[in-house]
Amino acid sequence: MKIKDTKSLCPECFKSLDAEVYEEDKKILIKKTCDEHGEFINTYWSDADIYNRSKEFKPTITAINNPHLEISGNCPNNCGICEDHETSTILGLIDVTNRCNLRCPICFANAAKAGVLYEPTKDEIRQMLKNLRNIKPHPTPAIQYAGGEPTVRKDIIELIEMAKEEGFTHVQIATNGLRLARKENFAQQLKDAGLNTVYMAFDGVTPEPYISSRGKNLLPQKIKAIENCRKADLGVVLVPTLIAGINDHQVGDILKFAFDNRDIIYGVNFQPVSFAGRTPQDQVEQQRVTISDFVNLVDKQTMGQVQPKDFYPPSSVEPVSRFMGAMDGEPAKVTLNCHPHCGIATYVFIEESEDPNEPDKLIPITEFIDVDRFFELLNEYSERIESGGFGIKKRTLARAAKELPKLINKDKKPKNLDIIKILINVFTNRSYDALGEFSKDAMLVSCMHFMDPFNFDEDRVKKCVIHYATPDGRIIPFCSMNSIYRESLEQKFSIPLKEHKKEEIY
Ligand code: SF4
Ligand code: SF4
Repeated sequence: MKIKDTKSLCPECFKSLDAEVYEEDKKILIKKTCDEHGEFINTYWSDADIYNRSKEFKPTITAINNPHLEISGNCPNNCGICEDHETSTILGLIDVTNRCNLRCPICFANAAKAGVLYEPTKDEIRQMLKNLRNIKPHPTPAIQYAGGEPTVRKDIIELIEMAKEEGFTHVQIATNGLRLARKENFAQQLKDAGLNTVYMAFDGVTPEPYISSRGKNLLPQKIKAIENCRKADLGVVLVPTLIAGINDHQVGDILKFAFDNRDIIYGVNFQPVSFAGRTPQDQVEQQRVTISDFVNLVDKQTMGQVQPKDFYPPSSVEPVSRFMGAMDGEPAKVTLNCHPHCGIATYVFIEESEDPNEPDKLIPITEFIDVDRFFELLNEYSERIESGGFGIKKRTLARAAKELPKLINKDKKPKNLDIIKILINVFTNRSYDALGEFSKDAMLVSCMHFMDPFNFDEDRVKKCVIHYATPDGRIIPFCSMNSIYRESLEQKFSIPLKEHKKEEIY
């Protein structure tokens, strides 16, 4: 059964192709035909029911007012941001180097493989930060330095300070954690410079996944890096790259590890592996993990404590942003309106068992809050406030104070969690700190499935909210960047590797 027409890419020549997303045998598939390289049929989501539920969360359109390019080619060959793009930038990314102190076979970017050094200057990075902050009407609020391995740059501390100077509320680095492990005061230096989060690759709780996907056992360094972040009170989000047959059996154990370190680990963002073009199709299908596979793995490996129904696409939380915006008297500044098939998430709490022989209990937020009604009510409140009237904000808040607590099942909530106090704090203070308080008690368990040429879907990439800033002044959606632009951009702005002494590179 056909679901939609879209455009995709040929995994061999990267040409834009007409594609069809369709349902067959309770699975969602994508197919396209390249005149030169034949037909490609790939799994898009492995569970049609979960796909169809996510489909209901239609995101708003928030095109930016000052696109960089007019529409002059087919998406995604016109990035960007072009006039056709439907969302603003929520998380900006800047690759600050393609050097790395590891050589992972699954990596997108690596100086040793590319044979060139890509390392924008400080001035270029400042300009890229400015370009993200110049997006109208809403400047990009959050930035992530990535690479390569951003911590191999000697000036990484200054780059973090620079991001704060340019006005980013949230600054994070994507790192393998090796330098954090090796250099004890490094976490403190990063924190002092203004870093908010360490976004750390973490593929499992035993040596094997590291040996298979990264070439060596990195678990001891990961644990040491977390310890050093703890000493500096610098929050960590774990980022496992999920590969079927390598670490998909460790999803539950990774969550357990995160909860055991919940004083410093705030979330786990699972990222199913994406494949470079020219990977054999049968390998792609064999190792592919889709978002629906992920939620089913969580269900199975938490013994049904966290189920597929507990997960929502990111756009589900748009009513929260809308309500905050209505209270502030302006449209929401930040709204998570990426395509509903890009990701999925839930908040999970833990209740420690009083019996040492019994395991702790995981409690997803949906267990004790009627989340669907909560979002419905927030939309109703926003409509009332937006329609105006004397004292409308005060009257709506009073109504919310009466109605929202009724959505909470006190018998099922974690015993020590004062969720009403947290909600009141979030809605009355509407600040980054208030949201931080909420996140402290909860573990954000999420999954974003980056696309590759096999499952590339133009419909999704047009609603991408994670964008690279590049040295030529462009803003390029993440999945376009990694599917088609990275190689040529890096070649254009790189110098041959041999011009640098080897010891300066690694
Ligand atoms: S992905 Fe967005 S910016 Fe790129 S061509 Fe498509 S609509 Fe334009
Ligand atoms: S990075 Fe890819 S998966 Fe994530 S929002 Fe953008 S298009 Fe979707």
